[in-house]
Amino acid sequence: MEITFLGTSSGVPTRSRNVSSVALRLPQRSEVWLFDCGEGTQHQFLRSELRSSQIRRIFITHMHGDHIFGLMGLLASCGLAGAVSEIDIYGPPELGDYLAAARRFSQTHLSYPVRVHVVKPGFVMDDGEFRVDCALLKHRVTAHGFRVTERDKVGIFDVEKAKALGIPFGPVYGELKRGGRVTLADGRVFEGADFVGPTERGRSVVYCTDTVFCDRAVELARGADVLIHEATYSHADAEMAIARQHSTSTMAAQTAHLAGVDTLLMTHFSPRYAPGNGGLEWKDLLAEARSIFPNTLMAKDFWSFEVPRRREGVTESQNELQVKTQDVSQIETANVEVKKRVIVKKK
Ligand SMILES: [Zn+2]
Ligand SMILES: [Zn+2]
Repeated sequence: MEITFLGTSSGVPTRSRNVSSVALRLPQRSEVWLFDCGEGTQHQFLRSELRSSQIRRIFITHMHGDHIFGLMGLLASCGLAGAVSEIDIYGPPELGDYLAAARRFSQTHLSYPVRVHVVKPGFVMDDGEFRVDCALLKHRVTAHGFRVTERDKVGIFDVEKAKALGIPFGPVYGELKRGGRVTLADGRVFEGADFVGPTERGRSVVYCTDTVFCDRAVELARGADVLIHEATYSHADAEMAIARQHSTSTMAAQTAHLAGVDTLLMTHFSPRYAPGNGGLEWKDLLAEARSIFPNTLMAKDFWSFEVPRRREGVTESQNELQVKTQDVSQIETANVEVKKRVIVKKK
């Protein structure tokens, strides 16, 4: 599971940040799931290491333009490229009408099936390996936060150990694999737990935007590995954040803290904090958030974050390392032109 930010600006794009879109890459199945699709998202795909042909699902949080104006163009291009087989789109009730109108008036025919699903708070989908739930956020229009939860994977079965103990091949292997107890014909008893490696705990990623601080976001993010949360404003501009139903950096951090997540990735920053504007800067938002939730990282366009796999008993967090590598000075370099852009990838 790898998260790549394709747009991290709120409202309007800046020279270094496009409007909202986040890609979740599932490399084991060559799929990309997209969260929001602001204008220019397909251009961002072309500039990234992701392939739009791998897009399988798109989740739309709400109908504000900076989250959906890129959707129709992306869908049309996916059709022309001919590499997409089908796309399921999940979003608020108006999304279906919006897309239908855009297709009708632009006479766009999509050569592959596109299914639009209206989401309601609660269960969204489950494909056996990943489950998606959503919750109502607190914004000026209906907005949902999404949670992707991966199923736990049972540990690897140690066949060699079983063989070495002279356990005969057959159904007993299956029983041991499932963690059961078997009694052999010679009377020996074995426990499955002694042959199966540690369970790989399913990972979870939560995406909350746009929203002012709300308890439902905390509940949705409860215990998640990664919380991607909007941080449009600085703490100093909290009044504006509340008036416009957006979050400050400190609200994002508070949500992460209360939910007990591992890592907070902040996104959806107001262009007013671009370096050189003479006031507070994006790096100040990072410092504010870290004063409440130290394991906070600040997203920038094309930056990727790999959600670490965690086996039972393995407590070492790779994320701690990440915080050290992303110091505040790195944020400054975000304000470069696209041609000078550096793709920061976690090794
Ligand atoms: Zn927005
Ligand atoms: Zn909005």
